[in-house]
Amino acid sequence: MHEMGVARQMADIALESIPGNVVNPRVEKLYLRIGKLAAVVKESLEFCFEIITRDTPLEGAELVIESVPVKVLCRACFHEWQVDGPVFTCPACKDGAVEILSGRELEITSMELAED
Ligand SMILES: [Zn+2]
Repeated sequence: MHEMGVARQMADIALESIPGNVVNPRVEKLYLRIGKLAAVVKESLEFCFEIITRDTPLEGAELVIESVPVKVLCRACFHEWQVDGPVFTCPACKDGAVEILSGRELEITSMELAED
């Protein structure tokens, strides 16, 4: 499952980001930015994340996911637009030489540690 790899990657980065001086750290919320092109299913990611993070400071953490729209730039006429489907042809000049500006994001923007 694609989401299992993503969840593992996110969990690894989050665990590394926990400051070393925190005693018994527990992450309450993890904020993610996920591009639509990353093709991540939220429910699957949450499911995998829950399995992977068992018995770690990330156990029970809530995933707050921001979905990043796919933005595309036409190299021929520099028209910029947002894509909702898999069509990657410029609507202005019908050229196919398009560049993807955003939508591939898979990143952690921040996280909240629980306070005891
Ligand atoms: Zn164009």
